[in-house]
Amino acid sequence: MKRLLDSIVENNKKWTREGNVASYIPELSKVDREHIGICVSTLDGEEYCSGNSELKFTIQSISKIITLMLAIIDNGKKYVFSRVGMEPTEAAFNSIINLEAKNPQKPINPMINAGAIATVSMIAGNDGKETFNRILKFTRKISGNPEININEAVYKSEKETGNRNRALAYFMKSTGVLKGDVEEILDVYFKQCSMEVTCGDLARIGSMLANDGVLPWNGQRVVPRDVARIVKTIMVTCGMYDASGEFAVHIGVPAKSGVGGGILACVTRRMGIGVVGPSLDEKGNSIAGMKVLEELSKEMDLSIF
Ligand code: GLN
Repeated sequence: MKRLLDSIVENNKKWTREGNVASYIPELSKVDREHIGICVSTLDGEEYCSGNSELKFTIQSISKIITLMLAIIDNGKKYVFSRVGMEPTEAAFNSIINLEAKNPQKPINPMINAGAIATVSMIAGNDGKETFNRILKFTRKISGNPEININEAVYKSEKETGNRNRALAYFMKSTGVLKGDVEEILDVYFKQCSMEVTCGDLARIGSMLANDGVLPWNGQRVVPRDVARIVKTIMVTCGMYDASGEFAVHIGVPAKSGVGGGILACVTRRMGIGVVGPSLDEKGNSIAGMKVLEELSKEMDLSIF
């Protein structure tokens, strides 16, 4: 396995030169585009890594699956999906068009920014601080890494410049989707996106999902089976935004990307996978990360279809 990962990383290094690192969050433009890394975490607790697998990067939108799980655990699926949809969209992750044109009362799915901001507003907590602490604690637990923390510079950078997300949130406040203090909800969202992880952290979260909500390394159930199933399904249909269809054809596993360059993937009853490659395509997905996953999927026949 290790040899296979080494050769996949080697074969796909060239892709790190394509695309661009995210620059709309100024601090993210400082990351090194040359990096490429992968970790696979199997259900029998083995971990195999290659390339820059020790690299820390911000989780960004991959956190949306974490907050979706928490929101459903706190409120039940019926309530959550009465306030956020579950349909894929052809619009970009930070687009506002569907909110106004399709349904002002309901963002289209929890993986786009509007839907994720609505989702995080449903997570229990007396204030933003408590809500974020629950998210951080849950992330540490499902990744088996008690050291996960936020990258303060990225958090501040996004908070200062996140006016698109502010626009989405205030629009949703005006239509009644968001209840509560908009700035406080946004602050939690910016913090959840700034949590710093490695490929190994993503692979272990993926292995928990692959194991239907049970941590493979200690047998502890952390997510109800039904919630794991829902999240994986939404990852297949919406996890790679408006590239989810193409990703399903070429790779064929539930996955979630973030503009930090990470992708979390999982293969039920087999493994969790974390990859990183900071250079993105125009849809905000890691180019090298997708290429690495494509080769791994072919080599190991991972597609669920
Ligand atoms: N923090 C980023 C944003 O809200 C997350 C987007 C992403 O990773 N696609 O714009």
